[in-house]
Amino acid sequence: MSRRDELAAGLAAVRERIERSCGTAGRDPGEVTLVVVTKYFPASDVALLADLGVTDVGENRHQEAEAKAAECAADGVEGLRWHFIGGLQSNKAAAVAAYADVVHSVDRAKLVGRLDAGAGERVVDVLLQVSLDPPDREGRAGADPADLAALADRVAAADHLRLRGLMAVAPLGEDPATAFARLSAIRSELVASHPSADWLSAGMSGDLEAAIEAGATHVRVGTAVLGSRPSVQ
Ligand SMILES: *Cc1c(COP(=O)(O)O)cnc(C)c1O
Repeated sequence: MSRRDELAAGLAAVRERIERSCGTAGRDPGEVTLVVVTKYFPASDVALLADLGVTDVGENRHQEAEAKAAECAADGVEGLRWHFIGGLQSNKAAAVAAYADVVHSVDRAKLVGRLDAGAGERVVDVLLQVSLDPPDREGRAGADPADLAALADRVAAADHLRLRGLMAVAPLGEDPATAFARLSAIRSELVASHPSADWLSAGMSGDLEAAIEAGATHVRVGTAVLGSRPSVQ
């Protein structure tokens, strides 16, 4: 099987899962954007995916993402939206805002000014990453739900950022359905004060059905489309 055929098969399977879960949830599949997570895979895969109709790709490491976006542009791969989904270091935020169309992982105030400055004349869509972990969990990524309102106001006030909604990852060791139910409640609160911030980025290869059931508008899927990632970078 060619790499193109492998990717086409992975995509078809994931699109079918999305359609089936939308059917179960009584939702329109047109409301759910598939972000194909291409981290650790080469720009040649991104080019094949674009040719297969993928419009949104996700990356989680700045250097790799920046290089891949540049390589795709140089190869004439056009019309892709680049989603930055990984942990964001403050000193890299401005550089990320120079090529990312959507940043999913804004979890603290310090990032906001830097992203805004790095966006230049562009407008970058921002999702706030909220933690669904217990407060004492080691290596917790994402803002505490209690801090979201202030962070949202800050992003909304930035000239070159557009507050679009929330992102979360289901905690290990918990049924994703219960975690995403909490997320859905947090989202309702945010939307009450920021009505246009209604995107919800949740769901990966293993739990996209539960996320769609809970209202996800963006699913971030890597392995189920591209296969297992190389374990050594
Ligand atoms: C890698 C990654 C994904 C994709 O995970 P898969 O299980 O391969 O689908 C989704 N979201 C984030 C934040 C990631 O880092």
